[in-house]
Amino acid sequence: MKKAFCTLSLITLFSFLGQSTFSQTSLLINNVQIFNGKDEKTITGNVLVVDNLISKISTAPIATDKSGNTKIIDGKGKFLMPGLIDAHWHAIMTANTLEDLMEGEPGYAFIKSGKEATNTLMRGFTAVRDLGGPSFGLKKAIDEGVVAGPRIWPSGSIISQTSGHGDFRSVNERPVSLGGNLHHSEDIGGATIADGKDAVLVAVRENLKRGASQIKLTAGGGVSSVFDPLDVSQFTLEELKAAVEAAEDWGTYVAVHAYTDRAIQKSIEAGVKCIDHGHLMSDASLKLIGEKGVWLSMQPLDSAVRAGSSAEQKQKKYDVAAGTERIYAAVKKYHLKLAWGTDLLFDPRANSKQTSTIPLMGKWFSPFEVLKMITHDNGELLAFSGKRSPYRLGKLGVIEEGAYADLLMVDGNPLKDLKLMEDYEKNFVLIVKNGAVFKNTIK
Ligand SMILES: [Zn+2]
Repeated sequence: MKKAFCTLSLITLFSFLGQSTFSQTSLLINNVQIFNGKDEKTITGNVLVVDNLISKISTAPIATDKSGNTKIIDGKGKFLMPGLIDAHWHAIMTANTLEDLMEGEPGYAFIKSGKEATNTLMRGFTAVRDLGGPSFGLKKAIDEGVVAGPRIWPSGSIISQTSGHGDFRSVNERPVSLGGNLHHSEDIGGATIADGKDAVLVAVRENLKRGASQIKLTAGGGVSSVFDPLDVSQFTLEELKAAVEAAEDWGTYVAVHAYTDRAIQKSIEAGVKCIDHGHLMSDASLKLIGEKGVWLSMQPLDSAVRAGSSAEQKQKKYDVAAGTERIYAAVKKYHLKLAWGTDLLFDPRANSKQTSTIPLMGKWFSPFEVLKMITHDNGELLAFSGKRSPYRLGKLGVIEEGAYADLLMVDGNPLKDLKLMEDYEKNFVLIVKNGAVFKNTIK
């Protein structure tokens, strides 16, 4: 009896330690120019990965055990950087058109999302902050190795008030609170329409229950939504405060979709820690964001609209695009914590822009500032989820000992020429996520 107990304990112990107990695998990348995500100066050296973490970085040769478990890659002096991070992604919504998602078979929409997740990883993105949509299942499938894709920080459903930016209903559909049925967008976990403090608390807690790493609310008007002009503010201060309290009780934070001063300032008053967008704010809001240590997560939006957009939606996009120029020009003055995310949505054919538009940032920032923003800085925003972050074994967005082995090798030096990011299919020659090689075309 005693012996049986001991055997069982050992098995339990080994399963806790994970498979590394029995089959440790190593990856040695020799002779690379290393950009560590935060220092402009690169070093030429070698990187040893053991299992899923960076174990050693050295300018001297790194000895290996020469066992069959060590894979050795000759980097041929090419540029090695941390995997890219998109701080504002919608893994499900960007894989589908609005029609596919709202009127099509959910199975079809989710299978396409799996394929798009693989495309995302092949564009060099090893991690994304999913700012709304039913991505919990996709995240699980990626983590289990069912489908290749980036690490996902899920927000769960976008929480919106009635007539807010996340209200996808048609004008004749009644809300649930007035006897209507759940809209399909709510049914699949894409959005939750919540009015009043109690409903907001339930909405936040439902997402936390499913494993949300942060919470997303829409605090003001949006471009693609139908019922809300850009200038409107959404949710009362009390509702926003309720969301913040529920998120903070869970050790994480609320991010809001907001463009205008009123929406931004009210959100910050309520305790919101990340403003997504901000294109229509004044310097007063920029200053406030800086003073309060709030994150600003932005993207260089242009005035292009999706096919089928209404005249009103076109005008909204035009207004927001004008803000891109102004805010990015002003942002350096205020020393903000600035993140970068693409927010591509409902136009799967345009998803290659996730990588190819990175050089646009060169208009306002040096190549070093851009590369640091999309690796190290975005990694800090991911870590802001604290204990609700799904991947906490190592750091992300940096190449340093103990960090996750999420790596991208570029043929050419993007610190000198950001345009190398445009042709990622050709120029991204090695993609490693969690220590596993997903692409290797080094010649
Ligand atoms: Zn978004």
